Amino acid sequence: MTDLYAVFGNPIAQSKSPDIHTAFAQSTGEKLVYEKRLAEVGEFVPAAKAFFADGGRGLNITAPFKLDAFSMAQELSERAENAGAVNTLLIKDGKFYGDNTDGFGLVYDITENLGWSLAGKKLLILGAGGAVRGILQPILEANPSSVVVANRTASKADELAKLFSRYGNIKGCGFTDLENSPFDMIINGTSASLTGELPPLPENIIDKNTFAYDLTYGAKPTVFMNWSAENKAVNIADGLGMLVCQAAESFYLWRGVRPETQSVINKIRQSLTT
Ligand code: NDP
Repeated sequence: MTDLYAVFGNPIAQSKSPDIHTAFAQSTGEKLVYEKRLAEVGEFVPAAKAFFADGGRGLNITAPFKLDAFSMAQELSERAENAGAVNTLLIKDGKFYGDNTDGFGLVYDITENLGWSLAGKKLLILGAGGAVRGILQPILEANPSSVVVANRTASKADELAKLFSRYGNIKGCGFTDLENSPFDMIINGTSASLTGELPPLPENIIDKNTFAYDLTYGAKPTVFMNWSAENKAVNIADGLGMLVCQAAESFYLWRGVRPETQSVINKIRQSLTT
């Protein structure tokens, strides 16, 4: 039987994961099938257990099941524990093993595909939801000189800063507390871009040397990307690279082979319609 993998979510029709993993399988010569599976809310754990009981080899998990996958895992990677969420499941030594590859994917995209070093840089991260929690450990392990997490609800940014302070120099604040000098990099991890909104940001936090990265991606530049360009930033990226690179890390965990990502990013970008 060909090795079977899948992504679970609700909704799931929009998922690019089957296209991404099929492209990885083709480029690496790995023989596998990757499907999308819809689970009803509250039914993820039995559905995932049935998938593995039927011989499934590995799962990706997307919204809204990353917390269910976290509680299903009998062992967790350090980065999944810190993220408080699991996006990759496999069976290791007879147990469900949960990992979170989102932060690794972001750092890999920034450093390997976009050629930017995070070491010694002054970073600003906007947002303090699940995505930001998932990226903070890998970001801090890339040795930036400082990380500021700014969020609409400032207390959530403070909480994350406390949680991750053992990994590096990090502080939390609200948008109005942002300091008046440009950052080397601004990562938008809010969901504001999904609704065409922009967090209320002072313009003096960005200049032509600032690298601007939006975790949100789509066929068109986001409002945050347009704002960055209007404020003279030259290096601007969306989160499609992160999506493909987190998938590549899941593929590596399952198959022990690291696929090339840039050609897959280019291919998936051509298929984006919204
Ligand atoms: P959450 O719902 O967990 O968090 C949303 C965050 O955005 C909160 O910090 C919230 O602030 C903030 N926010 C929402 N609306 C606004 C607004 N209008 N102005 C300012 N801040 C706002 O979402 P996630 O963390 O899961 O996802 C965030 C984004 O990251 C999404 O767009 C998602 O698509 C993207 N993402 C991309 C991935 C990729 O592979 N490229 C992977 C994962 C996520 P508050 O706390 O005050 O409510």
